[in-house]
Amino acid sequence: MVCLLDMSGHEGYRPLHFQVDGRGTAMDYQAIANQAIAKQPITREQGLAILAAPDTEVMDILAAAYRVRRHYRGNRVHVQLLSNIKSGLCGEDCHYCSQSRVSKAEIDRYALWKKEKAMEEAQRATAMDAKRYCMALSGGQPTNREIETLADMVRSIKKETSIELCLSIGFLSLEQAKKLKDAGLDRINHNLNTSERYYTSICTSHTYADRVKNLMTAKKAGLDICSGGIIGQGETDDDIFDMFDALRAIEPRSIPLNFLIPQPGTPFADMVPNLTPRKCLKALSLARFIHPDVDLRVAGGREHHLRSLQPLSMYPANSIFVEGYLTSDGQTPNEAIEMIKDLGFELEVESASEDSLGTAVA
Ligand code: SF4
Repeated sequence: MVCLLDMSGHEGYRPLHFQVDGRGTAMDYQAIANQAIAKQPITREQGLAILAAPDTEVMDILAAAYRVRRHYRGNRVHVQLLSNIKSGLCGEDCHYCSQSRVSKAEIDRYALWKKEKAMEEAQRATAMDAKRYCMALSGGQPTNREIETLADMVRSIKKETSIELCLSIGFLSLEQAKKLKDAGLDRINHNLNTSERYYTSICTSHTYADRVKNLMTAKKAGLDICSGGIIGQGETDDDIFDMFDALRAIEPRSIPLNFLIPQPGTPFADMVPNLTPRKCLKALSLARFIHPDVDLRVAGGREHHLRSLQPLSMYPANSIFVEGYLTSDGQTPNEAIEMIKDLGFELEVESASEDSLGTAVA
């Protein structure tokens, strides 16, 4: 089969060659792109075919996913900086996490940052043209005292900078969520992490339903939602499809996709993630087809699992973290910006207006 990669993004583009898999069935990725652009749901059969597609078809899948990305998100890339403003000391047992109560990983453990330190980092993020500054806290439900400190932190950063703020946080009461919203917080990150079926294999101290309920509480308080997951945790392709499909009901503005790096000292230390750079690209493309207009972020594990194919992830995705993740390092801002410019994409610095979200820009 001939692989023709057309990154022109023309709406009228049609593949010159139909994709034919080993069983002789046809998979027309550009037809799936048309379906996504029209916001028609992707079926399980289509989703599973994308995840299991031969590696020789990855460029065809990317070309189709890019057409959807370009239609809704243009050629812009958001860069985000993440700080772990409270580390370790968590009472939950998420098996992938080095900050959990069952983890023996050697990580820094500290209580919630003071406002001044968060302000310095938010100003540094602003100086590097980051669109959003994300602050993550370990732990289940924050105390009311922590919420007061966070609300004060958010108010001060919003007064001094124009950067968007996201808190990656545990479980909130409606009152706590409203307090953060009133302080000026833009967004909450709380990931589904995997499918409902597989959830008890990655965590037993809370349920998948608890996660969904928490997201609905944040939404009710008027906060934007960022919610995604982690692949490479031993899940099946059905679980990957189910996770992305379940997110349709959550309606996140942003979806981060993480790729597991097993951390020594955690229950998943010996997990062998069933991931290749091509599999990661197929999963990102599937996320784009199911969620055509969201900010799709290539998150933790990008450097490790995508390796030399990292730039290709920018065809389905439109957002990356720089400098690192909660307890691991990542690509430097200069390297990330060079990659974006080499691709011919633009850094997105200004906030997207409400009106522009979900509207075709191509
Ligand atoms: S992912 Fe969050 S809730 Fe789960 S163990 Fe880690 S810090 Fe705690």
